[in-house]
Amino acid sequence: MTEKPDTPKADQPDIFETRESEVRGYSRSWPATFARAEGAKQWDEDGREYIDFFSGAGALNYGHNNPVVMEPLIDYLQSGAVLHSLDMKTPAKREFLETFEQLILEPRGLDYTVMFPGPTGTNTVEAALKLARKVTGRQHILSFTNAFHGMTLGSLSVTGNSMKRQGAGIPLTNSSKIPYDDYFDGETPDFLWLEKVLEDSGSGVDKPAAIIVETVQGEGGVRAARAEWLRSLSELCKAHEILLIVDDVQAGCGRTGTFFSFEHAGIEPDIVCLSKSISGSGLPMALTLFRPELDVWSPGEHNGTFRGNNPAFVTATAALKTFWADNSFQNELADTIANLHQRLHVIAAKADGATVRGRGLLAGLKFDDPEIAGKIAAEAFAQGLLIETSGPRDEVVKIMPPLTISAKDLESGLEVLEAAVLKFASAPELAAV
Ligand code: PMP
Repeated sequence: MTEKPDTPKADQPDIFETRESEVRGYSRSWPATFARAEGAKQWDEDGREYIDFFSGAGALNYGHNNPVVMEPLIDYLQSGAVLHSLDMKTPAKREFLETFEQLILEPRGLDYTVMFPGPTGTNTVEAALKLARKVTGRQHILSFTNAFHGMTLGSLSVTGNSMKRQGAGIPLTNSSKIPYDDYFDGETPDFLWLEKVLEDSGSGVDKPAAIIVETVQGEGGVRAARAEWLRSLSELCKAHEILLIVDDVQAGCGRTGTFFSFEHAGIEPDIVCLSKSISGSGLPMALTLFRPELDVWSPGEHNGTFRGNNPAFVTATAALKTFWADNSFQNELADTIANLHQRLHVIAAKADGATVRGRGLLAGLKFDDPEIAGKIAAEAFAQGLLIETSGPRDEVVKIMPPLTISAKDLESGLEVLEAAVLKFASAPELAAV
């Protein structure tokens, strides 16, 4: 048998360690070399199998290499069609826009103008912040404690995490943080401070252009805002003519059980940011959606070389047509969500200081002792489960399987998770049995 050329010998230096920047993260917590992927599973180059409860940080909601997106993608790549097109017209882009309008916007009664920013999450957030400032003529943006919106300067300025913020190297200005749902004691009235200062002309607090919010904070500890809290936020924004931006980069595209994560709350944000799973395949793509009246851009005022990733438009269209043409996928997803949360509550009940967090398939197990979550994630990896931690102290094990995961794969992953939880956080009364 000939040796695979890309498999390093045991005594060779590891090029990822010798050549790649210290900034690398996931390759440290998961030091495997991933070579193949299908559905909710990946295999490293030694053939070791992993169940994936990470889903490309939310970019692979329909699993790896789903045939429903791969087949049209391969056909497209072989057809001689245009791959790269900035914001020019292409048939692939037309079909995506028509499908998005028919299957996503119209059935939900949403009339959003679609903007293609650059292809990443932080690109759509930057576009949203810039537009909100341009529309209102105001500078300040409010965001929430423990928020995560991206790593470029504008999105970083509305992000909470102090380690990430320090990376900016310059002051992050024109934004302030306000308390997310349940930040205090559960008794302090929601938006107490904000309502007061917005009404008090002597408060010294400038009216913001916008408030940006995640309905479930993915990176910030898998905190889910209550529907009534989101409704109050939306009403407050309307009353004070502040634009409401929902960053649905991670929680959108079905992750919480509906296409947009805010549907259950019955709110209509002014601006919506989508990326990660909008392409349905893991290919880079992002959208910024806004009320048509907010479309004050001059032609070319905001641009970017990689706004027209046509292979991503093809897979996005295929994913929308397969999963969102009727309610069947959403109904199956509801069963997967119910199953996951029921099992997580059982696991939490057996563990010391553990609580279930999140909504839909953006779920978490939070541990009182912040050391525990990291140990559980490392043990899970050793046992063939990819699962990451989240939160300001990495105190939450974040459970994010593909939405398409089978009941069997979900259960296999949960068994590994449960064993890891019991190894490090077994409740004392259970340990004594
Ligand atoms: N917003 C949210 C809510 C996110 O979770 C992320 C990524 N984790 C981003 C924005 C930034 O996306 P990207 O990494 O593609 O820039």
